[in-house]
Amino acid sequence: MANTTSDVALVTGASGLMGRALVQELRDAAGTTTVAVSSQDADLTKFEQTLEMMERHRPTIVYHLAARVTGIMGNMRAQGQAYLDNVRMNTNVIEAARIAGVRKIVAMGSAAVYSDMVRLPMVEEEVWIGPPHGSEAGYAHAKRGMLAQLEAYRDQYGMEFAFCISTNLFGPHDKFDEECGHVLPSLISKFHRAVQEDQPVTIWGTGKPERDFLYVKDAAAAMRLIGRSFSGPINLATGQAISIANVAGLLKEISGLRHELQWDRTKPDGQKMRSYDIGKLQNLGFQPGSSLKQALRETFEWYAAHCDTARR
Ligand code: NDP
Repeated sequence: MANTTSDVALVTGASGLMGRALVQELRDAAGTTTVAVSSQDADLTKFEQTLEMMERHRPTIVYHLAARVTGIMGNMRAQGQAYLDNVRMNTNVIEAARIAGVRKIVAMGSAAVYSDMVRLPMVEEEVWIGPPHGSEAGYAHAKRGMLAQLEAYRDQYGMEFAFCISTNLFGPHDKFDEECGHVLPSLISKFHRAVQEDQPVTIWGTGKPERDFLYVKDAAAAMRLIGRSFSGPINLATGQAISIANVAGLLKEISGLRHELQWDRTKPDGQKMRSYDIGKLQNLGFQPGSSLKQALRETFEWYAAHCDTARR
């Protein structure tokens, strides 16, 4: 169903990487009142606080982005916490939304829900096939559980939903943690530091694995389209995978690093390839607004200007 002019959109996780971009996107578009909430407004692991917040704002559509997000190393080290916190938040938000009469939830899933067993490019119809990769199983199962709850609530209560299966995101306001963070912000921090110290950069693995990186501003534009007119699971990606070596080459150029890149081949590469079928997203009229190089440049420049205060 399309948005109406009386739509009130509530965005959870609004202080995060994706939340900031989505709030900006929704506020720039006419016709929706946007309420931005973070853990300061309600601890979503607590049901009473979640319900009170939902009833106070009475949204018609909820973009549920809040999550405990730590990147692959963080998720590996704290599987139980990633599972429990995310299950609690997701369950509370969906149940509180039902009670408050929310028409639609657009929930943020993750490509971690896909099993290594599925075909490439990954298609939404195979989301339940095989177990998710063990390294992030706690986080991934919490996301799968959210999809199961959304399907059950649609069937019993008629609550509409979309479930965004998002690839790696990056952009301003990310967490730039070199050890536990996501690959791109961690690389950006490494390149920035290396240039400051006039040192070479050492990158884990061979550089051969290919990933699909989505700029958060493009992800926000896609999510608005999804909120307006899509129901069900949908891949959120560019549809174009690039090797880590090529991304590192772009960052070398953008950062002005003078040293050759060094690869620590004793470290694991992870999966060779992660690629997504984005047919459903393209049918909504989605096209990335920025090239990867341009988006990396904007993010690098943002980080360079905020490296003392950026989250890690
Ligand atoms: P961030 O870590 O940048 O932001 C997390 C947000 O969740 C913050 O606004 C935070 O609020 C909020 N939050 C955390 N715990 C609670 C809590 N107990 N109660 C209320 N709010 C809470 O995450 P991203 O923007 O990177 O991720 C957004 C969504 O996208 C998540 O669902 C994530 O799983 C998904 N995703 C992200 C990817 C990525 O590459 N970043 C890739 C695929 C999926 P506060 O600031 O107040 O702590």
